[in-house]
Amino acid sequence: MKSMKVAVIGTGYVGLTTGVTLAYLGHQVTCVDVDPAKLALLRQGKAPIYEPGLEELMELARANLRYTDQYAEAVPEAEVVFIAVGTPSLPDGSPDLQYVRAAARGIGEHLGNGFCVVVNKSTVPIGSGNWVESLVREAYEGRYGRKCRGQFAVASNPEFLREGSAIHDSLYPDRIVVGAEDPKALEVLYNLYRPLIEQSFPAPTFAPRPERMEAVPLITADLASAELIKYAANAFLSVKISFINEIANLAERVGADISQVARGIGLDNRIGTRFLQAGVGWGGSCFGKDTAALIATGQEYGLAMPIVQAAREVNYRQRERMVEKLQRELKILKGRTIGLLGLAFKPNTDDLRDAPALDIARRLIERGAWVRAHDPVALDNARRSYPDLPITYYEDPLALAEEADALLLVTEWSQYRKLDWPAMAQAMRRPLLVDGRNFLDRRALLQAGFRYVGVGVGEQE
Ligand code: NAD
Repeated sequence: MKSMKVAVIGTGYVGLTTGVTLAYLGHQVTCVDVDPAKLALLRQGKAPIYEPGLEELMELARANLRYTDQYAEAVPEAEVVFIAVGTPSLPDGSPDLQYVRAAARGIGEHLGNGFCVVVNKSTVPIGSGNWVESLVREAYEGRYGRKCRGQFAVASNPEFLREGSAIHDSLYPDRIVVGAEDPKALEVLYNLYRPLIEQSFPAPTFAPRPERMEAVPLITADLASAELIKYAANAFLSVKISFINEIANLAERVGADISQVARGIGLDNRIGTRFLQAGVGWGGSCFGKDTAALIATGQEYGLAMPIVQAAREVNYRQRERMVEKLQRELKILKGRTIGLLGLAFKPNTDDLRDAPALDIARRLIERGAWVRAHDPVALDNARRSYPDLPITYYEDPLALAEEADALLLVTEWSQYRKLDWPAMAQAMRRPLLVDGRNFLDRRALLQAGFRYVGVGVGEQE
């Protein structure tokens, strides 16, 4: 394999995972970030985020990895530069592209003399490829006062990793999507990803290769199609979850059990069993932001996107339904003590962006309840990021349960299955558990003395 020189701009969930994975495959990677605290941790071999296997892979790839805040130390030599900075939502739903703009300018000002592929890995609106190209060109020409012909090409390479299994997903992706107009850029990226496509690298012990893993399909597309693939994928998954939640709400009314319904439909190959778990709904940094961006793009082009819009409405309404479940059981929420099990938007991450738990906590607090929360890894992030939220944090789930009026499971951390539930019930003022993910063993909870309320199960209404 030819080792290539790579720069990655942004060392968040996506940039760091990408950089570390490529370094592990044998490329020479320089990661650039503007956050000095992140860089300080990275230089000590520590990951600034909680992501299983990430620090271990950083250690294995150490010889091929550098970290800097200087574009000048990363870009001039690079054959491939990834843009992996954040694209958070603006109030109107469209993505805030200020970080992409800054990264593209920084790249343009530091392009070297060799051919370089500038890759958009951030999720960016359709048409961003052309926009980034113009920014890079302008910055280059502004700095050097000469045209940059044929020196670089822009490609789109959307990322599909899931937080919590980012290393696994980067080493063993379902597919790699590359969009570019310039065949030379496609060739460079094919060579970069060759070890992944052919699965010719040794699997790390902590991230074993899945059985029956074959070559990874490389989808080559034009720029606009690659950009749309990312939004369409996230919108489809969001729709699937909201669909099952809508059916779950009906199941509660008619006395059906959503888990039986989900299995009954999911085993149809055309539907598939995944993303059919009824519950609190989706959160995280991507689905909310990307569905809003897709709708904003539709508006820009005069097209309504009612299915995606409905998926959002059902999703955010689902959070309120959890509060309603508690209210129905407790009658009055004012003055009650509610313990949240889980804050992170999903297990195995400390990411709290658009986390349902925080939204539910705010709603409960507005209604006068006292909110406590436990999470195995996200408490520090919560204290740091939301210092004004009046939530009391507990390291120990049993202490959380002490004298509580109800528990609401929001994140399906596997360790919650192994809690001492009889002791939890004993400790509570009222042993009520609302299982917002249908995750716990209902029968065991009933035996432990709980009143158990799930999602999409009629008999509890
Ligand atoms: P993040 O917020 O975790 O990381 C972004 C990083 O970029 C930060 O460390 C920030 O300091 C750095 N940065 C900002 N401006 C910079 C600049 N000018 N130069 C250098 N560094 C800069 O974001 P993320 O979750 O990794 O997401 C990045 C992109 O990938 C987004 O567009 C997102 O939609 C997309 N994406 C995210 C996921 C996910 O699961 N998080 C999955 C697929 C795609």
